[in-house]
Amino acid sequence: MDGDIETTTAAPYSSQTKNYRLEAPIGKYRLAVQVAFVLVCLWIGIEFHYFVRYLESGGLATWVARPPGAEAFLPISSLMSIYYFALTGEIHPAHPAGFFILIAILVVSLLFGKSFCSWICPVGLLSESLGDWSEKLFGRKMKLARFPDYPLRSIKYLLLAFFVYAIFFLMTAASLKSFLDSDYNLVADVKMYYFFADISSFVLWTLIVLFVLSFFVRNFWCRYLCPYGALLGALSLLRPFKIRRNLSSCIDCAECANVCPSNIKVDKVISVVSDECTTCLSCLDVCPVPQTLELKSSPRGFNVSRKTVAIGVVAVYIVVCAIGLISGNWDNNLTRDEYLYHQKYLQSYGHPTGMAEIDELNEQSNETNTADPGSQGQSENPGR
Ligand code: SF4
Ligand code: SF4
Repeated sequence: MDGDIETTTAAPYSSQTKNYRLEAPIGKYRLAVQVAFVLVCLWIGIEFHYFVRYLESGGLATWVARPPGAEAFLPISSLMSIYYFALTGEIHPAHPAGFFILIAILVVSLLFGKSFCSWICPVGLLSESLGDWSEKLFGRKMKLARFPDYPLRSIKYLLLAFFVYAIFFLMTAASLKSFLDSDYNLVADVKMYYFFADISSFVLWTLIVLFVLSFFVRNFWCRYLCPYGALLGALSLLRPFKIRRNLSSCIDCAECANVCPSNIKVDKVISVVSDECTTCLSCLDVCPVPQTLELKSSPRGFNVSRKTVAIGVVAVYIVVCAIGLISGNWDNNLTRDEYLYHQKYLQSYGHPTGMAEIDELNEQSNETNTADPGSQGQSENPGR
């Protein structure tokens, strides 16, 4: 779904518009925000590395606190926490920072569309850079033809459907708690660290293939495979402000469509209604006619400036994360000794990998709940 198709021939550049000034491009500020978030991720990665060194040393190395921001890389656990909160009103203490970070991402998507992908996500910046380098090398935007493009775009929704079905339709509050309390979930961030630090040759080759594919097909991972992007894209359809084209002033130059990294035919639609639009605002930046492409609530509604989007995206993250911090729901409650204990048994921790195992988890948590309502989902591990 790429927009409302409009077939009317546009009128020439209206004299009504030439007295208006073009708004300054936002592209360089978007890049600054992207780079700032990459630096934050690097900082988190370095701190986490030293935290794991401490665990590996058995507590002998210098203590470096675990950065709670690492929980941003646990979206499934965070989604479960949000659902658990919706069912019980409790913020689960295992990864509270992840809970607030995901809430910020969902709020931003509802307000400003899939802006997480083009303003915040480090993978988005990497994909975008690969696409730009490829465009410079080949002199054109590399994209798949319509036939493979459409079916491939559904892959990310199939992956999302699996997670949504497993979490929202199969799991009960008891089994959610059981998973969130599990040893695997408590140290899922450490497991994630090793997934990349001790990377298997299969994962490495998969990443290399995705890297190469993203060079030859712009945004390959984001467009076809990322279930996170699928979730945000679906939510973004509810956003109140859409990119709208003023037919009376548009000169049909197609600059907006040419620059769009999501291949949306902006020059052919009245308003952009697409799950692929990442609110990168590149189309607004290149449009040469003032007041022709705008972010508006309705054709006659009020205009949201590009600066407002930039400030809004960053402000939502800061405010939501500050609420987590101030309310005392940012750091988890695992002690150093508990982490040292889990480090010894890390390799043995696993998670449900299919519907049958989720059913089993439901049955086990229901049995535990029936036998002893006070102990449901509690870890039997002496490390807790
Ligand atoms: S260029 Fe415009 S239509 Fe295309 S993704 Fe960016 S904001 Fe959306
Ligand atoms: S950039 Fe797009 S909206 Fe702006 S004048 Fe050209 S075709 Fe029309």
